[in-house]
Amino acid sequence: MTKSFIIAIDGPASSGKSTSAMLVAQKLGYLYIDTGAMYRAITLLAIENNVLNNSDEVIALANASKIDLVYTAGTTKVFLNARDVTEDIRSKEVNKFVSPISKISGVREALVKKQRILAQNNSGIVMEGRDIGSVVFPDADLKIFLTASIEQRTVRRVKEYDSKGIKVSIKEIKSNLESRDKIDSSRENSPLIKAPDAFEVDTSKVTIEQQVEIILEKVRQTAGKKNNG
Ligand code: C5P
Repeated sequence: MTKSFIIAIDGPASSGKSTSAMLVAQKLGYLYIDTGAMYRAITLLAIENNVLNNSDEVIALANASKIDLVYTAGTTKVFLNARDVTEDIRSKEVNKFVSPISKISGVREALVKKQRILAQNNSGIVMEGRDIGSVVFPDADLKIFLTASIEQRTVRRVKEYDSKGIKVSIKEIKSNLESRDKIDSSRENSPLIKAPDAFEVDTSKVTIEQQVEIILEKVRQTAGKKNNG
């Protein structure tokens, strides 16, 4: 088995993780893995099966389901048991229930197992989420923690919906982001935290291009240090 170069990118919702992680992976020719999409897929399945209040059922679904992330032309297609759920996992309903579902330890165990398997036999991976540097890959070669003000993150999310022609209120988006951050940061099992050895970048003040360049520079420094001993 080849040892991968692992870049872990963590941070709260809409802190710029997906866009920068995808671009960094593209530039380096690495595999990009969006772990939030996996938690969203299981949440969608729990809603469809009407088992939101039954943790054991949700855990069983998480263990039995197959999630594939397929990258084409700068976008990630998400397949849940061979069904394309790329759009469905971004619904308001999934946004509402994803953090409570992600608190369930058995769900996390099932998905962390899948995440570690996905990373095997790749020369390099960029994985983004909440617990990548702290739990999934505590020995990652490089850990990045992205932050941004709640105002910036709200504007970004509203624009995302706008571009899809979906009308949302600023208040509704802000309150969803705040409630997800609160649940994600305070849960007992693998809360959203900055790993002590992670490098923090506040994306409120920089462009996407600058974010990507900051991360690539860190990759160069880390790789340089490894090569020098
Ligand atoms: O990254 P995204 O905002 O799409 O993630 C959706 C939700 O999935 C998060 O709010 C969080 O509850 C959960 N999540 C998690 N651990 C991860 C990635 C996402 O708990 N590694």
